[in-house]
Amino acid sequence: MGGRARRRFDLPEADAFTAEYWRAAAEGRLLVRRCRAEGCGAAHHYPREFCPHCWSEDVVWEEASGHATLYTWSVVHRNDLPPFGERVPYVAAVVELAEGPRMMTEIVECDPGALRVGRKLRVAFRTVGDGADGGEGIAVPVFRPV
Ligand SMILES: [Zn+2]
Repeated sequence: MGGRARRRFDLPEADAFTAEYWRAAAEGRLLVRRCRAEGCGAAHHYPREFCPHCWSEDVVWEEASGHATLYTWSVVHRNDLPPFGERVPYVAAVVELAEGPRMMTEIVECDPGALRVGRKLRVAFRTVGDGADGGEGIAVPVFRPV
């Protein structure tokens, strides 16, 4: 099982298609996918190789602004999957990116009681798995209030 001392559930799996996304994240840039089909032009997230709106495969990476608004959230007080248990309570959320797509993420550096729908947010990156478990560290996008 890869020699990992402890199984954890917060590490995304990068494959050839999403490698560019994770490379950008490591540099502090959030990427979305943008459709180039005539009459569509929609952005989407999570990354797919085709446009989920019109099924076109003419889709490219685009750097997002990092601006978003809070769409919905939930304060998690219990999660038995490592390493989430050490982080409770935390705020799991769906945010709406300025480019349009919604994404699942976590809100950090916030007072959960002060969160409101539409609250302005900005992307930040958290590095997880940095060596402690033999992983090399992956930057995952989280959001914090502006
Ligand atoms: Zn499209």
